[in-house]
Amino acid sequence: MKRMLRMLWNMMRHPTGYNCLHTRKLLLDYAEGLLQAPVQTKLERHLSDCEDCQALVSSYREVIEVAGREAALDLPLPAELEQKLIEFMRSNL
Ligand SMILES: [Zn+2]
Repeated sequence: MKRMLRMLWNMMRHPTGYNCLHTRKLLLDYAEGLLQAPVQTKLERHLSDCEDCQALVSSYREVIEVAGREAALDLPLPAELEQKLIEFMRSNL
């Protein structure tokens, strides 16, 4: 969990431009592969020339991966906590 919090912190320190702010709201869904194709295309266009957002996507993926691994190991990441984490990310990015 400590590692995950550090990654979240890294994400939040990224600079924010208008496009980035807009993109960031979608990044979590993007990292999980939940976006509709047209939205995803737009987002990928922004990603292709924004290194900050690219870095965010890899951080998200890492968080998701770590969360999945901890769940697989049966380490405590209660659904409630996971939900709070997701809500936190959505409202703070
Ligand atoms: Zn960006």
